[in-house]
Amino acid sequence: MAYEKQALYYNGQRHETSETFQTIDPSNNKPIADICKADKAAIDAAVHSAKDAFIKWSRTTAMERSRILLKAVALLRERNDELAKIETHDTGKAFSETSVVDVVTGADVLEYYANLVASGGLNGETTQLRPDAWVYTTKAPLGVCAGIGAWNYPIQIALWKSAPCLAAGNCMVYKPSEFTPLHALKLAEIYTEAGVPPGVFNVVQGAGDVGAMLTSHPGISKVSFTGQVSTGCKVASSAANGMKYVTMELGGKSPCIVLPDATVDNGVNGAMMANFFSTGQVCTNGTRVFVPASMKSSFEQNLLQKMENIRPGDLFDPATNFGPLVSKVHHEKVFKYIRHGIETDHAKLIFGGLGQPELPSGVSKEGYWVRPTVFTDCTDAMLITTDEIFGPVMCILYYDDKDPHWLESLIARANNTNMGLAAGVFTSNIDLGYKVVQRLEAGITWVNTWGESPAEMPVGGWKMSGLGTENGRGSLEHWTQNKSTLVEMAGEVPTAFPKL
Ligand code: NDP
Repeated sequence: MAYEKQALYYNGQRHETSETFQTIDPSNNKPIADICKADKAAIDAAVHSAKDAFIKWSRTTAMERSRILLKAVALLRERNDELAKIETHDTGKAFSETSVVDVVTGADVLEYYANLVASGGLNGETTQLRPDAWVYTTKAPLGVCAGIGAWNYPIQIALWKSAPCLAAGNCMVYKPSEFTPLHALKLAEIYTEAGVPPGVFNVVQGAGDVGAMLTSHPGISKVSFTGQVSTGCKVASSAANGMKYVTMELGGKSPCIVLPDATVDNGVNGAMMANFFSTGQVCTNGTRVFVPASMKSSFEQNLLQKMENIRPGDLFDPATNFGPLVSKVHHEKVFKYIRHGIETDHAKLIFGGLGQPELPSGVSKEGYWVRPTVFTDCTDAMLITTDEIFGPVMCILYYDDKDPHWLESLIARANNTNMGLAAGVFTSNIDLGYKVVQRLEAGITWVNTWGESPAEMPVGGWKMSGLGTENGRGSLEHWTQNKSTLVEMAGEVPTAFPKL
């Protein structure tokens, strides 16, 4: 095995269990580590250690917590390449991507929240009610929170959840996806090395049953979940039974709109960014690409030329910018959709399709490879344009930009989905771009760019794509509960029951 056996982590220590499962390298279909699976007793022990740690951690000053978390930021940056390598082995994403995105964007968010809480981010409000009476509010941490992650950005997700959680004075029990478990123990030990006390950040490993035990655990006060809409519904309803807070970061089927005044180059570059980065395994991908009919031939010609620049290959070759899919089961799912697009939806396939991409010699053909795929002349009703595929499959939908009502109809089509994670427009007319974005039903929107999600930008979905936000100032509130206090300073307490 390429990696040592991965223990659970709680109370500041590794804990091994007898039952294990394996994590597989998606680039060659070979196991790379045995992972200890948490049972109920281990979950209870992890929650218990977090509850114990909460007593002290919640009472440290924000400045003290910030100092410790900033040490963890420094360690993450120092070990960027080592951690990125782990992510490449676990997810199948090219090192050219994991080394500049995954750890970096996670560490940025930890730095952001460490600085925010140290500079008054947890302050409440004061109101002078009367000359001698004040109302003040304070923000108290929630307690022990569960973090449940998806497999596409493992360490980034773990950091986006644990950063505001710990900075606000909470403790966390974190469960990564069973498909990408390798980052979790590393992160836990980095937190410990930085000075995070035992029990503040804990890791349990396993599949959905382990997640379900966490969401229904009476010791958990909040569940922060990233994953599919269908799982999110189960998680939210389980959490609701215990009146737990939730943050839900779920899937999408986002519209990527090329407006008639956009240059073809910008439209194509944007659409490719919105579909093929991370082999299409990005929740905010703009997989419904709306293009003006008048641009059809130039758009497709330009796109087909640029598709040749997508380079599958050895994941550690700096020129490789496209990896295999994360797992066998996901590979089967994406293939099923491509087959459906060809055989049932009868969309016009102009690039890719079933089968493997051409791989350089020496690259294993056992990996979960899929060809970057483009369907054109798609209609709104096709399954490939309505379901989240979560793979490198672009669907081009044309709109009649000569119709006097084209804009109204375009916006209605873009919003015609029960999901609302992201949306974006490409245009040379910023006024028009602004007007369109204002009317798109999505929580994350872009104008003339796609996919960047910096620490400063709150992200979260509308409609079935989620509840709450991550990142940005306001999201810290999702990790605290409000306490309002009215203080009367008149010196005497009047009676409500005066003697007659
Ligand atoms: P899943 O919903 O399959 O799984 C997410 C996590 O939930 C995993 O850790 C999984 O465990 C766990 N889980 C499964 N069942 C339960 C349950 N009943 N109770 C508690 N936990 C459970 O999502 P994927 O891992 O397939 O991730 C892909 C999805 O994530 C896509 O839909 C994508 O859009 C979305 N996503 C959303 C983001 C956002 O910010 N909005 C960001 C990234 C991804 P296990 O897998 O180990 O069985």
